[in-house]
Amino acid sequence: MLSDASGRKIEYLRLSLTSECPLRCIYCRPGPAGERPQDDHPLRPVEIESLVRYLAERHGLHKVRLTGGDPTSRPDLTEIIERIAAIPGIHDLSMTTHGLTLARKAREYKKAGLHRVNVSLDTLDVKQFQRITGSDGLECVLAGIHAAQEFALHPVRINTVVVRGENDDQLVALLQFAARHILEIRFIELMPMGPLAASWHDRAVSESQMRERLAPIVQSWHALPRKSDSAQRYRVILDDGTMVCVGFISAMTGCFCEDCNRIRVTSDGSIYPCLMDRPRGNLMSALRPRFEPDQLEAALATALSGKQLRHPAAGVAVMTQIGG
Ligand code: SAM
Repeated sequence: MLSDASGRKIEYLRLSLTSECPLRCIYCRPGPAGERPQDDHPLRPVEIESLVRYLAERHGLHKVRLTGGDPTSRPDLTEIIERIAAIPGIHDLSMTTHGLTLARKAREYKKAGLHRVNVSLDTLDVKQFQRITGSDGLECVLAGIHAAQEFALHPVRINTVVVRGENDDQLVALLQFAARHILEIRFIELMPMGPLAASWHDRAVSESQMRERLAPIVQSWHALPRKSDSAQRYRVILDDGTMVCVGFISAMTGCFCEDCNRIRVTSDGSIYPCLMDRPRGNLMSALRPRFEPDQLEAALATALSGKQLRHPAAGVAVMTQIGG
């Protein structure tokens, strides 16, 4: 089992497959859609498989999340899923996506072995969606969410980053939407990284402020056991008697670093011990041109010795590089 300098066990790999994403979310990466960073020689499916297989066999890794950028921007995504899903010991293989392609691809991803998806959805309002993401794709995302449910990528979770003055008027509508469609929803506190880092104080909405906004339609909150989840989840009964599972990812007001069990690797092989920290090493030379376990162990040891007990006050990179 891998562990860091503070004794936290590392069992969860978040793998950013690409920094490319067609959306230009205001808190993530605004700018013209043509300005896409290119990954020159991203980790190949076979290299990803070697890495995950080694970590699973040697260190008991059992959980992998594919993220980005958007993982669906990789033409070889299905092959990557197939290779990881076939590794003994990987009990949880999930993906975070904008959801734009799921209506076409959910069945294929499920067949390849993907277990579940998280889909980003910040608003149900077409104009607001356009303003936040720079895309007209709301209908596509909604169709993608339903396809993910139809093909049992369960539990389908909605991720909503709440930004004051942008979508904080959507909390109630989104919770009701989740209840109606039997989805889990997670409201995410804005983190001071990326384009809104400088205005974070004015734009962030705390978990307690979100719960205040939801209070008029919530009859009761029942906190669920947290384990090492980044979200504190609640089973909530709404005023119309429906039940829904809602989580809050409160990295800024409710730091959960002491239970952190994850490490992050990006498509260029950089190792990030923390979402908000700088990279602490690179494992590409341990995977290319051939797999070198000793080099991999050395790179992991260096990265994990740099994993701080608590995340830095502000992030150094934008999320499209590391994956949220
Ligand atoms: N493209 C995929 C998507 O749209 O979900 C995956 C990558 S995206 C970077 C992963 C998650 O990070 C999303 O849920 C996104 O909303 C979140 N995120 C990005 N920037 C953020 C910020 N500054 N604060 C909090 N969450 C952020």
